Formats: sequence, C-alpha cells, structure tokens
Amino acid sequence: MTKKFDPATAIQNLKQFGEFGDVNPSITDSATYTFMSENTMIEAFHGEAQGCFLYSRHWNPSNKYLADALAAMEGTESAWVTASGMAAITTAILQLCNSGDHIVTSVTTYGGTFAFLKNYLQKFNIGVTFVNITDHESVKKAIQPNTKLLYTESMTNPMLQISDLPELSKITRSKGIQLVVDNTFTPMIISPFNLGADIVVYSMTKFINGKNDCVAGAICASNDFINAISDVNSGTAMLLGPVLDPLRSSSILKNLGTLHIRMQKHSDNAAYMAEKFEEIGLKYIYPGNPDHPQYELFTMIMNEDFGYGGMIAIDVETAERAAPFMELMQEKGVGYHAVSLGYFKTLFSNSGKSTSSEVPEDIQKEMGLSPGLIRFSVGLDHDIENSFELIKSCLKELKYI
Ligand SMILES: *Cc1c(COP(=O)(O)O)cnc(C)c1O
Repeated sequence: MTKKFDPATAIQNLKQFGEFGDVNPSITDSATYTFMSENTMIEAFHGEAQGCFLYSRHWNPSNKYLADALAAMEGTESAWVTASGMAAITTAILQLCNSGDHIVTSVTTYGGTFAFLKNYLQKFNIGVTFVNITDHESVKKAIQPNTKLLYTESMTNPMLQISDLPELSKITRSKGIQLVVDNTFTPMIISPFNLGADIVVYSMTKFINGKNDCVAGAICASNDFINAISDVNSGTAMLLGPVLDPLRSSSILKNLGTLHIRMQKHSDNAAYMAEKFEEIGLKYIYPGNPDHPQYELFTMIMNEDFGYGGMIAIDVETAERAAPFMELMQEKGVGYHAVSLGYFKTLFSNSGKSTSSEVPEDIQKEMGLSPGLIRFSVGLDHDIENSFELIKSCLKELKYI
C-alpha cells in the first residue's frame, strides 16, 4: 500500500518565522496597512497587488500564517480563518448558494449547523433536503438541478457515523456540485480534501486549538474559492466580516504544532475506554470498534498513526438516567459536564438535551439518537485506567451496572 497523506509532517515542514528570525511568526497587531504609492493601493483594491496587505478584515499576516499551516495540513491550495466554526460553515455555504438554490445535507450534523440549514436559510429561499449520509441512493435521489452542494461531517455529531467521502465525491463530481465537509472531529485522522472534498470547514474551537480558550474556525479550499470569499466587492467573508483576531491566530498556530501528538493520545485514551465499556457490557458507539458499521471504511480512509479519534458515546437509555450519572462523574473528577470537545480534560454531555437540542425530538429519533446518549470527548488523561475506574464506580453507585 502506498504511504498515506501525512498532515503532521506537512505542518512540521513549514518554515514560518518572523521578521526578526523569531521562531514564532511576529504578530501583526494592526487593522490597516500603509502604502508607499497610491498606485499600489488602487491595485490592491482591484485584487491585483500581490503580497500586500490592505485591511485586516480582508487579510492579516498572522491570519495568513495560520491559514497557510491549515492549508498544508489539509493539502489544499489555500485557507481562510474565521472567528468561529459557525462562521466558517455559514460563509462557505452562503458563498456557494444564491436565493432559490438547494442543498443536500446529512441529517446528523452539529446542532448549530442543523439550525442554520433548517431555519435560517429559509429567509433566502434556499431549500435543504436532509438525508441519511450513509445511504448513497437517497443522497443521489435528493440532488436536484438547482442543488449547489452536498454537506456532511467526516465523523458525524453525535452519532459518530463516518461519511464515505470517496464515494460521496464521485456522486458530487458526476452531478457538478460541491462537496463541503466539516472535519472538526477528525483533524489529522481524516484528510477530506485528499478524499475528494472540495471545501473543508473546521471549528478550531475543538481539537485544533485544544485549549478551550476561544472559538475559531477555518475554511480550507482552492485558491479560487478563498479568493472568491475574500473578494473586496463580492466575497462573503470580506462583506459579512467574520474574521479571526490575529492575536488568536498566533496562539492557535502554536497549538497546531502539537495537534498530531494530542490526537494520538485522545485516540489511545478513547480506545482504552471503549475496550473497558465492552468488558462491562455498556452500550456505546465508538468508530474504532470493529463492530461499528463504518469501521472498515474508517480504517480504509484514515491517515496512519493518529488512531480513531477521541470521541465515544454511551447510551444509558433516558435523559433522567443520564443527568445524575453526569453530575456524579463530574463530582468524582472524571472531567467536566460541559459541551464542546477536544479539550485536555474529558468533557461529557447529553447530546439530545444539549448540542443536538436544536434537532426536533422526532428527527432525533429518526437519526437513532437515544435520549440517554452521553457523548464523551476523552481527554489527555495520563492515568486513563483511573478515569475508567471512576466512571465504573459512578455506574455502580447508581446501579446502572
Ligand atoms: C462546535 C462545532 C461547530 C461550531 O463551531 P463553533 O466554533 O462553536 O462556532 C461546527 N461543527 C462541529 C462538528 C462542531 O463540533
């Protein structure tokens, strides 16, 4: 087998240093930029002046360093960094769709994405069809003449299904539409662009930054697309203005350098948890389990060495049973009862009542989301055996096992 794409080495190989040889690129703490000649400024406004910065809503050098590193990680020509994951998602979608267009999307997506697609796009008369992304026949059937894009998550939230990106990209290419993939749960592990996606979006709030100290996002795509979103006269990013603060870009760039090691540890710890959950007969969803319906697909499309990710979900059947269990886990120090993921401490929440509460209950049922589903983002715990023992003691105390 040929060696797979190596996003970690792609980042490691970058030579990004600052104006004084500073190993961390200098932070450009500036909203505007001076021009030595009026002509250059005029050219810049026409998008013709290469290598100059105009205004930080358009581009900022610190944002460019981070964007370049993300493009290297994804293997895309370019990238643009946003103030949140939702900013990345909404910018990409609004750039691709006009009023009267149509979108096909996985029904299992992040709650905010679901709400944007279902409720918000209505005001622009943009139609959305929700499909089971693992059912390729229904994906094909849902595509209409005015469909502009197929939207999915590499690993879907919170059901932890894996999208078959190579197959989905065959469908989108044959129909001449764009495949937009949210890779928030699986940076390093899955490289959607290499598997046929056209546009990759991220919430960097999660694993990429990994510190839970900010919200941020990114769009990785072709030069043409990034130029289009940042176009002075018509770009969605330029005109709606969801740009990331350069101080934040600088801090996220430093965290990106350790992402590969963190992903490995998150994966190792989640794999350990899955093994133990199996031993005690707990109902759980973990895509690294050979019984998971997309295990083979995942194994086939993943990059080497980063594992199956840090996400695992357990099912305690009802929200009423989930509540005291989560409270007890927090009390005993398993981690925090909090939404979000990719933190160095374990985070857990009841998906149906929190991050997927935007999804109506009948659709939750349809997508197989149990009201007692607790999603874990397994942390970087050094003593993961002890973390499991704590979880087990909570289950015993509540007589769930
Ligand atoms: C958190 C999340 C988002 C939204 O990102 P924000 O940074 O909170 O705006 C989008 N997609 C997925 C899969 C997420 O987990």
